[in-house]
Amino acid sequence: MALEHVDVLIVGAGLSGVGAGCHLRTSFPDKSCAILEARDSIGGTWDLFRYPGIRSDSDMYTLGYRFRPWSDAKAIADGPSILNYVRETAREYGVDEKIRFGHRVVRAEWSTAEASWTVEATRTDTDEAVRLTCGFLLMCSGYYSYDGGYTPEFGGTERFEGEIVHPQKWPEDLDYAGKRVVVIGSGATAVTLVPAMAAAAGHVTMLQRSPSYIVSLPGEDGFANFLRRVLPARLAYSIVRWKNVVITSLFYELSRRRPRLIKALIRRSVARRLPPGYDVDTHFKPRYNPWDQRVCLVPDGDLFESIGNGQASVVTDRIETFTENGLRLASGRELEADLIVTATGLNLLPIGGMEIAVDGREVELAQTVGYKGMMFSGVPNLGVALGYTNMSWTLKCDLTCQYVCRLLNHMDANGYRQATPRSPDPSLPTQPLIDLASGYVLRSIDRFPKQGARAPWRLYQNYPRDILMLRHGTVEDEGIEFSRAVVPESAERRAA
Ligand SMILES: Cc1cc2nc3c(=O)[nH]c(=O)nc-3n(C[C@H](O)[C@H](O)[C@H](O)COP(=O)(O)OP(=O)(O)OC[C@H]3O[C@@H](n4cnc5c(N)ncnc54)[C@H](O)[C@@H]3O)c2cc1C
Repeated sequence: MALEHVDVLIVGAGLSGVGAGCHLRTSFPDKSCAILEARDSIGGTWDLFRYPGIRSDSDMYTLGYRFRPWSDAKAIADGPSILNYVRETAREYGVDEKIRFGHRVVRAEWSTAEASWTVEATRTDTDEAVRLTCGFLLMCSGYYSYDGGYTPEFGGTERFEGEIVHPQKWPEDLDYAGKRVVVIGSGATAVTLVPAMAAAAGHVTMLQRSPSYIVSLPGEDGFANFLRRVLPARLAYSIVRWKNVVITSLFYELSRRRPRLIKALIRRSVARRLPPGYDVDTHFKPRYNPWDQRVCLVPDGDLFESIGNGQASVVTDRIETFTENGLRLASGRELEADLIVTATGLNLLPIGGMEIAVDGREVELAQTVGYKGMMFSGVPNLGVALGYTNMSWTLKCDLTCQYVCRLLNHMDANGYRQATPRSPDPSLPTQPLIDLASGYVLRSIDRFPKQGARAPWRLYQNYPRDILMLRHGTVEDEGIEFSRAVVPESAERRAA
C-alpha cells in the first residue's frame, strides 16, 4: 500500500514548529504539509515547564514571531501567556489543523531514487508504527530531551526525608507554603524559581557551586507600550524588535570584546540592588567572562529584592551529600530543607533523538557539518530550526523558515528534487556547533554536528549577518548541491 505523502513534514509543534507551519501555509498554500508532535499538546517548552514563575528570559518582541506582533504589556512574559500566544498563532494561521499529536518521530530514511524521506513515527498511545513520506523534512524538535532533565549524581538522596523535584517534572499539586526550600543551581531556571517561590515558602536558599552573570531588566518596556498606543501594531512591533536586537547585539559584542568593562558594569548594577555590605563577589562574581555561558536575566531585579527582604538567600558551596534533613556542604555547613529543587539543567538532544539514513547509509550526526546553521552536510532536503544562544530563539527560527521557503521555491523553479549541503574542505578546521562553556552544553556537544571555520558552514550567532545570508543571500552557493537526478550515484556505480 502506498504511504501517505506530504510535500513538507514538520517535526514538533512548539514555538518553532508552529512558526514553520505559518511560514509554509503563507508562502505555499498549495503545498501539503503535516506536523508530527510527540506530545498531546501545542507549545513544547511553554507547555512542558510548569514550575512557579516560569517565564521568558529574553524579551517577547524578539521571542515572538516576526509576522505576528506580541501585544501584551509585559516584555518578559510568563509561560502561560507565551503558550497562549503560540496556540492563538496556530489557530489564526490554520496550523493547528495540520498537527498530529502523539506521534514521536524515531527514524527518517532518504532515498535519492524517490527524492523523498520515509519517516517513521511511533504512536504514543498504542506504540503503533506510522510511516509516511515527504519531500522536505523540517525538524522543529527543540534542543533537549523531553524524557527528563539533568540531575547530577548526588550522594545520600535516598536518605533525604523531604521531597526532591526537578523543574522539568513539576508536580501539579506541590505545596511548598511555609516550607524550607533549597534550589540547587544558578542558571535561568534557578533565578526564576527563587523569587517566585520566596513569596509563599518559609525561606528559599539558592545553592550554587559557582555564580552566574545576572542582569536585571524592566519587566515591561515603557517605550514599547508607548509606541503601541501611538503607532499601528505592526510598525510599533517592528521598531521595538529592532531596538532590542540592536541593544542585545551590542551587549553581546561588547561582552566579547571588552569583558572587563561589562563585568564591572554588571557587578555594579548587582551591588546596587543588594543590601549594603552584601558579599557580592562570593555570590555574584563569576569566574568566567560574560557570554562564555548564558547571561541570566531577571525582571525588575526580583531575585535581588527577595534576597534584600530576607525571603531568599544565596549559598555558594559544594554539596557533599544529602542527609535526612537536607544537605551537608563541602564547607561542613548543613542546610536544612523540606523541599529540594534540582534546577540542574536539561539533557541536550539533537533532532529529537531521530535516527537518519541516506540511501541506506546511517548518518552519524556528529560527523556532519552544519550548513547555514540549519542543514547538515551530506543530508539532503532536511532543515533544522535551531535558535540563537545569545539572542531570542525565534529570531533565527523565523529566518530558517524563510530560507526553507526560498529553497523550496528555488527547487520548484529549477525542477530540482534534491538539495544536499556539501562538507567543507577537509583541510579547514571544524569546531563545536555551540560555543558556550556551560555544563549542559559540554556534557552533550559531541552528539551534535560540527561547524566550519567560515560561511556557509560557520554559525555566527549574529542576526543581522543571518538576515543577509538567509533572507537575501544566494540560494545556490559553494556549500550546496542541487540535483534533478533520480538515481543515486552509488546505485549507478553498482550497476556499472
Ligand atoms: C524554561 C525555558 C525557558 C526558556 N526561555 C527562553 C527565552 O526566554 N528566550 C529564548 O530565546 N529561548 C528560551 N528558551 C529556549 C526555548 O526552548 C526556545 O525559546 C523555544 O521555546 C524552543 O521552541 P522549539 O519549538 O524550537 O522547541 P520546543 O519548545 O522544545 O518544542 C519542540 C517540540 O517538538 C516535539 N518533539 C521533540 N522531539 C520530537 C520527536 N522525535 N517527534 C515528534 N515531536 C518531537 C516536542 O514534544 C515539542 O513539542 C527557554 C527554554 C526553557 C527550557
